[in-house]
Amino acid sequence: MAEVQELRYEGKAKRVYATADPGVFEVEYKDDATAFNGQKRGHIAGKGVVNNRMSNRLFRLLEQHGVPTHFIEELSERRTRVRALTMLPVEIVVRNRIAGSLASRLGLPEGTPLAQPLVEWYYKNDALGDPLVSRAHAEVLGWVSPQEAAEVERLALAVNHVLREFLAQQGVELVDFKLEFGRDSAGRLYVADEISPDTCRFWDVATGEKLDKDRFRRDLGGVEEAYAEIWKRVERGLAP
Ligand code: ADP
Ligand code: UDP
Repeated sequence: MAEVQELRYEGKAKRVYATADPGVFEVEYKDDATAFNGQKRGHIAGKGVVNNRMSNRLFRLLEQHGVPTHFIEELSERRTRVRALTMLPVEIVVRNRIAGSLASRLGLPEGTPLAQPLVEWYYKNDALGDPLVSRAHAEVLGWVSPQEAAEVERLALAVNHVLREFLAQQGVELVDFKLEFGRDSAGRLYVADEISPDTCRFWDVATGEKLDKDRFRRDLGGVEEAYAEIWKRVERGLAP
């Protein structure tokens, strides 16, 4: 039976609980939505359910392709058992087209294709607004060893390859996404956190319609409908 659990951390989108097993956490997905480093706040009905289920399906797909992830077991529509990890203080963004902060930082049109996938490193620090750094910063500042840095980039590109192919079959283009990594007590690296419309840009191949959190960030309307649509496509593409 479930015992009373210690809330370890409450973030913007999820709660993380300790369990009786020190190697296992439970995450609970909320409907709260934030953007622009917490300046814009809102609520997207049913988002937690979509993000939980979609993350778990995609983590399982990645595992099938040899990418280690934190996923252990879905407990309910909002709750999942995951490996308890020590997170790297970085967010890794992989881009296939120019969009979002890259478009505004360099003054380039959103949608411009990139000649090859681009891996970016950001320092995960809300107070500083998650600043862009380089892989060298992460190594020299001791956040990752050089071996880990290489592994992080290799895994990020593998995730991009697997997800891009799968989503293309569902009529969805993977424009960009953010990953987080953590290590277990033996020092092994895993893809962690979530892979969802909150953390990816998904564009409908036929119409260019945005099926992700940009609908919330940019007040485009149809937010809940977009989350439901992208979940429908992922669910259809992957057996339960
Ligand atoms: P944020 O911290 O950005 O507000 P969330 O609300 O999604 O984000 O909170 C989830 C937190 O849990 C994040 O800080 C994330 O780094 C962390 N996390 C995700 N997966 C794991 C894991 N397997 N082990 C430990 N921490 C994790
Ligand atoms: N992203 C994220 N969390 C962040 C920042 C970015 O999940 O704190 C995702 C975002 O959804 C997009 C990709 O990373 O899929 C690239 O985001 P970008 O740097 O363009 O920033 P944005 O303009 O989305 O804030």
